[in-house]
Amino acid sequence: MQPPQAQVLDPGPISTAALINAIRNELPHLKLLTDELDREAYRLDETAYLTAGLPGAVALPTTTAEVAALMRLATSHGVAVVPRGAGTGLSGGAAGIDGALTIALTRMDRVVEIDRANLCVVVQPGVINATLKAAVAAEGLFYPPDPASYESCSIGGNLGTNAGGLCCVKYGQTRDWVLGLEVVLADGRAIRTGGKNVKDTAGYSLTHLFVGSQGTLGIITEATLRLRPQPGPRSTLLAFFASVEAAGEAVAAMTAAGIEPVTLELMDQATILAVDDWHHLGLDRTAAAMLMVESDAPGSAATDELDRAERACADAGATSLARAANAAEADWLREARRSALRALERQGMVRMEDVGVPRAAVPQLLRAIERITKANGVRAATFGHVGDGNLHPNFIFDRDDEAAAALTERVRDEIFRAALELGGTVTAEHGIGVARRAWLPIQRGEDAVAVMRSIKAALDPQGILNPGRVL
Ligand SMILES: Cc1cc2nc3c(=O)[nH]c(=O)nc-3n(C[C@H](O)[C@H](O)[C@H](O)COP(=O)(O)OP(=O)(O)OC[C@H]3O[C@@H](n4cnc5c(N)ncnc54)[C@H](O)[C@@H]3O)c2cc1C
Repeated sequence: MQPPQAQVLDPGPISTAALINAIRNELPHLKLLTDELDREAYRLDETAYLTAGLPGAVALPTTTAEVAALMRLATSHGVAVVPRGAGTGLSGGAAGIDGALTIALTRMDRVVEIDRANLCVVVQPGVINATLKAAVAAEGLFYPPDPASYESCSIGGNLGTNAGGLCCVKYGQTRDWVLGLEVVLADGRAIRTGGKNVKDTAGYSLTHLFVGSQGTLGIITEATLRLRPQPGPRSTLLAFFASVEAAGEAVAAMTAAGIEPVTLELMDQATILAVDDWHHLGLDRTAAAMLMVESDAPGSAATDELDRAERACADAGATSLARAANAAEADWLREARRSALRALERQGMVRMEDVGVPRAAVPQLLRAIERITKANGVRAATFGHVGDGNLHPNFIFDRDDEAAAALTERVRDEIFRAALELGGTVTAEHGIGVARRAWLPIQRGEDAVAVMRSIKAALDPQGILNPGRVL
């Protein structure tokens, strides 16, 4: 039996114009962008290698009530809606759809309450990740999720993608820090999926259904997030290797030994060169790969943890090892790693991928990426959160070179096949979005995707929310 399917809308110019009029009538104080130049700014996210549609209008609500009214109106006019945070996504999830209404949550940017007694914080979705971190740090508290884009991405987008980042080895992904959400559904109803309870098993876990759903099931208008006490300053180890595989072996050895540093990142030679060219860090430019290992363990435990990591690296054949002299140098190195994508973008158009494998399979994945990119003669650079088994192969090409763009598609498909053969995933943290849709049934299987379609149809029967994304 076919699962129920949400309709796919084709918002025509007449219904969009009627919707704009209705919004102006019902919400006269709402900021609504209809000028073509303004709407252009909401066409793309950070997947510039993809094409995207031009929104028919962009709404910038400031309250849940406004979001609810917008959804009611969009539903009654049959116009698709694209929820959007800061637009830094790497899967096309917040990119425009021709004629659709983009709802950008950037003006709902308040930290509503820092609740020290319950070690949690209540936030609106438009808060920038770094702003939230700074607000809770001022109270001696810590919100761990830490995408490399933390200074520009929003909490709503982090929830929409279940963002990862540089400290998942120890602290997990965004999902692990969410206690409850307020969500506006397609028909305009607002529901709460949880609150400040650390333990709460009442009914299905709707919180975890919405996290990572990329705006296809509802619009998150508030979130209650867990906090923990602020850890101490970080200590950093850099290890250089003569092959990417040796670096992978060091990672596998650390995992097997139960070493859980806060950060375990890899950069291959192409990335080392790009970052060093930009920041002049004096990295070993002859190395085929570098690992960055950070510890935030208290007191001497940090030195012990890095000593153990250093032994694993030495045993795997590290050619040189170095430690940051102090916390300031450690911060500097981490910021350089965060800038890897921007450093590569100085060389051309970058298509970034996001494969993951069980951690013991990291050496095989690294070997497969190297083999596939070399065999196809594509310009590539790989870095990523290797401690989670998550690597970002990047393909660099000239924007106007259609053959090169087509080649990246074929190479990507080969890498996806290799990751799946290792029991991995085609996306560890960026999401399916539009960019990886064809691969969802291949990875999850048709039956699992049918279940997802049933959930989508139950929550959004008209298929109004972010159509064509994920499913
Ligand atoms: C330089 C750079 C480094 C990056 N590093 C990392 C990294 O280390 N780890 C990582 O995981 N990602 C990383 N990213 C990707 C990106 O920053 C994350 O996916 C981030 O979570 C997106 O947040 P955003 O606010 O920009 O969301 P957007 O791009 O605006 O939206 C992302 C998705 O969430 C949905 N969405 C947004 N707001 C809501 C809401 N309120 N309710 C429901 N759905 C919503 C959108 O529809 C879309 O599908 C990086 C990106 C860049 C450019």
